Amino acid sequence: MAPVQLSAAEARVLGCLIEKSLTTPDAYPLSLNSLRLACNQTTNRDPVVSYDEATVDAALDGLRAHQLAARGKTYGERAIKHRHLVDDGLNVDAAERALLCVLMLRGPQTSGELKTRAERLHSFAALADVEDTLDRLATREFAVRLDRRPGQKESRWLELLSVPGAGSEAAPAPDRAPAPVDSAHGEHGEHGAPAGHAGLLGAAAGPQTLEITNPATGALLREVAVDDETEIEAKLRRARAAQARWAALPYERRAAALLAWRDQLGADIEECARITAEETGKTIGAARNEIRAVQDRITWFVAHAPAVLAPRTATQSDAIEERITYEPRGVVAHISAWNYPYFVGLNSIVPALACGNAVLYKPSELATLTGLQLVDLAHRSGVPVDVLQTIVGSGPTGAALVSSGVDLVCFTGSVATGRRVAVSAAEHLIPVQLELGGKDAAYVCDDVDVDAAAEAVAEGAFYHGGQSCCAVERVYVHQAIWERFVTSFVAAATHWAPGDPLDAASANGVLARAQQPELLQEQVDDAIAKGARVLLGGMCEPGAASYPPTVLVDVDHSMTVMRDESFGPVIGLMRVRDDDEALALVDDSSYGLTAAIFSRDRERAEAFLARCDTGTVYWNASDRTSVTVPWSGRRASGLGVSMGEAGIASFVRPKAWHLRPSS
Ligand code: NAD
Repeated sequence: MAPVQLSAAEARVLGCLIEKSLTTPDAYPLSLNSLRLACNQTTNRDPVVSYDEATVDAALDGLRAHQLAARGKTYGERAIKHRHLVDDGLNVDAAERALLCVLMLRGPQTSGELKTRAERLHSFAALADVEDTLDRLATREFAVRLDRRPGQKESRWLELLSVPGAGSEAAPAPDRAPAPVDSAHGEHGEHGAPAGHAGLLGAAAGPQTLEITNPATGALLREVAVDDETEIEAKLRRARAAQARWAALPYERRAAALLAWRDQLGADIEECARITAEETGKTIGAARNEIRAVQDRITWFVAHAPAVLAPRTATQSDAIEERITYEPRGVVAHISAWNYPYFVGLNSIVPALACGNAVLYKPSELATLTGLQLVDLAHRSGVPVDVLQTIVGSGPTGAALVSSGVDLVCFTGSVATGRRVAVSAAEHLIPVQLELGGKDAAYVCDDVDVDAAAEAVAEGAFYHGGQSCCAVERVYVHQAIWERFVTSFVAAATHWAPGDPLDAASANGVLARAQQPELLQEQVDDAIAKGARVLLGGMCEPGAASYPPTVLVDVDHSMTVMRDESFGPVIGLMRVRDDDEALALVDDSSYGLTAAIFSRDRERAEAFLARCDTGTVYWNASDRTSVTVPWSGRRASGLGVSMGEAGIASFVRPKAWHLRPSS
């Protein structure tokens, strides 16, 4: 039995104190806030946690009771700082300390992994040195070598300071060791069986978890603890308390944190892009592009929020003054889609925070690691931990969040889910913003450069495998260029084949949803059964993670492929007589997100677009959004507005002042 028994939070805090004493000695000892941020880092931590200050404080109390930590003030500084006392408290040398630190921060690892990961803390000349040190730790029952698991070449080592009752006999049977469980909650990491270790030791079952898998390989990336209703309530309570303080800060303070978040995203772009590519199947290049573009959006939101927040005088006379001020809504729930996790998330979160709201952010279950990473970076940038919190889970968690008592729900996702969210929000009489699907149309006129137009439309249709709400999903082509356009479009479509998301040379990755290829096949089969012809693609292997670029002709609006959102690389091309017929078909949809026209003639294009019943229209462009203009969907494509000044204004409530001077 190890000489001390630590809780998971105590081990995390102790590991962080040791790590930071060696990697950032100038900033050591650590304040409570720096220590919390160190605990919640998403890099070099397994499981990833989301501790609040109270959790870290309680862990420090425990460590002090074990004489493993101390606090004090540095001369001239106001904040209390914390340091570890492991060298004396555990009587370890530098090599032992380094390995214990990495084992506490990252869970069971092989000696090879430990050598690499402990390099920043201590220089081991050879693997044999690491193994000698581990043997010494084992002799003192500070660590134990686990049995090898099937398929593993090497055995892993486990530290025993924070694992109750784990003598070497208690080491788990090989097949009982699960993938690491990330707790997004301090609460879970706290009690007895820490999230990352519970299953490992066959202890009591942990919280409900979400499995995050790589859609390209099927590999399990992580298990993440799901927030249940009690946790959502607790997070909401903390968010409410923190929101008032956040809103009371001068705008510049909120802006500084948001701009620091922007910069942090830039600094961590490679890691963020890799996480997103691995869990969503998006190409690493597309993920990088999205992150760069979202940085510009943060800049824009921060620059434009003050104008929206500024009070306005409506009437000024001797008899009466009428004034409007703008107040934050309170706690905003943002329930996100996975396809553009940075855009979709930050289009809500950044203006909400800029306006003084707190945000409970539920990333899509298909982009949870990206969401956790985003929030971690925000906290490291100075956004208070209770002001922006992650809610982890899938549909039921989202439903619980909607009915938890938040003040506004911003939802992005499918029409079916959006409808359920709207019904629930109506029950609670809270406002909703819904950004839903699209069946976006493009009309190609007879006056275009055919090859250039075909390439542009193909990009709008097949970029990111067509998994964009505003991707072109149906194309109407003027009869005068029909044959040439079809040939050119099929040729352009072949360039958008699926590939390895992590290979920068891939035009596309794989589809995020495992069920999507089957759904696309159903649409294609329905079209074929009703008379459509497949010119490209149209078939995938059972169980495939992707679907080939697919082009259909002889389609009509009786087919699901021309009516329902495909959200994949399947396009129907339809020949039209003239602009009027094209317009009638473009508007013949339950959706109303975007419409595009390709033509050399601006006047003709603007006349056409003015008559389209969609929230966004494009001339010689498609599949794009911009922070400077409002984004809104009509009919089944949504309710409310995001982006642009109108989007920022969604996050404030007006207050009308009627001020009559006494006579
Ligand atoms: P989805 O509807 O399956 O899920 C969206 C989110 O809702 C997820 O976080 C999910 O966990 C949550 N959820 C599921 N059931 C819920 C419930 N009952 N209550 C509350 N939340 C619940 O959609 P998706 O597959 O993640 O996203 C793809 C869809 O999003 C497409 O239709 C796409 O067009 C749309 N989208 C629209 C825009 C836009 O700006 N209009 C942008 C991106 C994506």
